[in-house]
Amino acid sequence: MDKPCTFCGNNSFRQTTVQYSYENEKYSLVVDEVPCEQCEYCNETYYLPDAVKKIQQAFIDKHFRIKRKKKG
Ligand SMILES: [Zn+2]
Repeated sequence: MDKPCTFCGNNSFRQTTVQYSYENEKYSLVVDEVPCEQCEYCNETYYLPDAVKKIQQAFIDKHFRIKRKKKG
């Protein structure tokens, strides 16, 4: 993190992994061991943008992938 914690202003974070759950009104996806940084003071979790992107892609692949069928 290059910024202090949004909640408490603390500057030290630890690298860790957490369980991330992502859902909308219809579907949900739970991913274990998602890399993130956690505030050492208040434990607020900050996901890395790349990790979030991967999760969202996995979610889309799982639920919304469009399969094209060839006719004939
Ligand atoms: Zn904090």
